[in-house]
Amino acid sequence: MTQNGRLSIVNPATEEGIEEIPTTGREELDDAAERARRGFEEWRGFAGLDRAEVFHEISARMRGHADELAGIMTREGGKPFIENRDEVTWTAACFDYYGEIARDSIGYLPAPIEPQQLAMVMKEPVGTVACIVPWNYPLLLAAWKVAPALAAGNAVILKPSEETPLGTRRMMELMEGLPEGLFQAVYGAGDVGEALVRHPGVDMVAFTGSQETGRKVGVTAAERLMRANLELGGKDPFIVCDDVDVEVAAQGAVWAACLNAGQVCTSSERFYVDKKVADDFVEASKSFVESLNIGDPMDQRTDVGPMINAKGRQKVEDHVGQALDRGAKLVTGGERFGDRGFFYKPTVLTGVEPSMRVMSEETFGPVVPVVEVDSLDQAIELANSVPFGLGANVYTKDFEKMLRCARGIRAGTVWINDPLTDNDAAPFGGYGGSGIGRELGREGLEAFQESKHVHIDPRVEKKEWWYPYGKGEEPGRRVM
Ligand code: NAD
Repeated sequence: MTQNGRLSIVNPATEEGIEEIPTTGREELDDAAERARRGFEEWRGFAGLDRAEVFHEISARMRGHADELAGIMTREGGKPFIENRDEVTWTAACFDYYGEIARDSIGYLPAPIEPQQLAMVMKEPVGTVACIVPWNYPLLLAAWKVAPALAAGNAVILKPSEETPLGTRRMMELMEGLPEGLFQAVYGAGDVGEALVRHPGVDMVAFTGSQETGRKVGVTAAERLMRANLELGGKDPFIVCDDVDVEVAAQGAVWAACLNAGQVCTSSERFYVDKKVADDFVEASKSFVESLNIGDPMDQRTDVGPMINAKGRQKVEDHVGQALDRGAKLVTGGERFGDRGFFYKPTVLTGVEPSMRVMSEETFGPVVPVVEVDSLDQAIELANSVPFGLGANVYTKDFEKMLRCARGIRAGTVWINDPLTDNDAAPFGGYGGSGIGRELGREGLEAFQESKHVHIDPRVEKKEWWYPYGKGEEPGRRVM
C-alpha cells in the first residue's frame, strides 16, 4: 500500500506491518536515469568474459544468501520458504546462464552481396531498460529480464512490486562488481512504474504483470515508439488422458494449481480430464488436496501459504462463489482458512461451464475446476478457447498424443508429464493475450539487443551501376 510517499509492507500470513519504505520521487528518477547512462558507457568497456565473471560472482553471492533472501521474501510475499529458497537458486542460475551465452552472441556473418565484401550483423544494446515486475516471483522474474538485459550490454532500472520490495532491496546489495549506476532499483506502486515507462531516459520496457496493466504499458511504449516486452497473465489448461496413472496426474495437477497458493502466471486453472478417468481423478485430487499442510509459510513443512492480500483472495472467492451459484459442485475447500492472514483452502470443483469466471478469467488462486471430456480433440479445442496462451500441461504416455498436443495447443510452453518446469535455456512467454515477446533462452537475450547490419567493401572503386545510366547498355546489377 502507498501512503504519503511511503510503501507499507504487510506480512500476508499475519496481516501485520513489516516495514515502511520511501517511494522514489521524480528527481530521484531523473538522477537514476542519468547514472544509468554513465553506467552503460562504463559497461561497454567490459569484455564478455569480464561480464560473465561478474555474473558468476553475483550468482555465488546469491546462493550464499539463499536462506536470508528466502526469509525476507516469505515474510513479505507469503510464498512458502521452501519455494522461495528454490526461487533464489533459479535466480542465481539465470545469472550464470546469461553470463555464459552472452559471450558467444555478439552477432553473425551473413553472406555478402559480392564475394569480396564482408557483411556483419552486430548485436548491440538498446540503452536503458526499465524492468517492471509483479510480487509473485519477485527475484526470479527480475532476473529473467535483468540478467539478459545486462548481459546484452544495457543499463537497467528495476521496479519491484509495491507488495514485495524488500527481497529486491536486499538482492541489490549483493550486486557487487557492476559499474556504478548500471543496475538500480526504484520503489513505488503503479505511478512510479508509469513515470519510469514515460521517462525520456528509458529506451525500452520489459514488463511482467497483469493483462490490464500490460495493455497500459504497451500503449505508453507505442506512443513513445519504444520497444516493449510484455509477459502477462494466463488461464492455463491441464489435460489428462486415460492412459496415465491417475494418482500421479492428480498430484501433478494439484501441485500445478496450488503452487504459491495458485499465484503463478502459469498456474493450471482449467482441467480437462478424459471421462473414463474423471471420477478417479476428482477423488484422487480431493484426497491429495485435503492432505496438504496450510499455514505459516516460514514453517518448512507448509505446503500452501496465504494469498498475497485481501483483494487477491476476494477475487478467488468471487470466482468460486459465482461458479457455485450457477450450479458447479464443491468437492472440497471453497472457504478461508484460519482467523488471520489471507489464507484460502485449496478447492476442487466439478460441473463447471466455460462461461463461468473460474473457467474464463485468470483466478490466480488455488482452485482445480474439473471438466470431463469425450476425446483429446475436444480437450485441445477447449484448451484453445480462451484469449490467453501462456502455458499448458498434458498427462499422457502416448507419444502420438504428446505430439498432437504439442502442435495443437496455442501456448508459449507445453509441459508434458512435468508441470511448470521452466528452463533458462528455452524461451518463455505467451501467445495471444498472454503477452508480446519472449524471455529466457536466446530469444530472451535478443529481446534486449539491437541488430546492426554493417556492409564492407574493401575496394574503393566506382560501381558500374552508378550514374550516368545512359551508357547504351543495361547496368550490371542493381543496388537493391
Ligand atoms: P500488476 O499488473 O498489478 O503489477 C505489475 C507491476 O506493474 C507492479 O510492479 C506494479 O506496481 C506495476 N504497475 C502498475 N501499474 C502500472 C502502470 N500504469 N505503469 C507501469 N507499471 C505499473 O500485476 P501483479 O498483481 O503485481 O501480478 C500478478 C499478475 O502478473 C498476474 O496477472 C500474473 O499472471 C502476471 N504474471 C505474469 C507472468 C509472466 O511471465 N507472464 C509472471 C508472473 C506474473
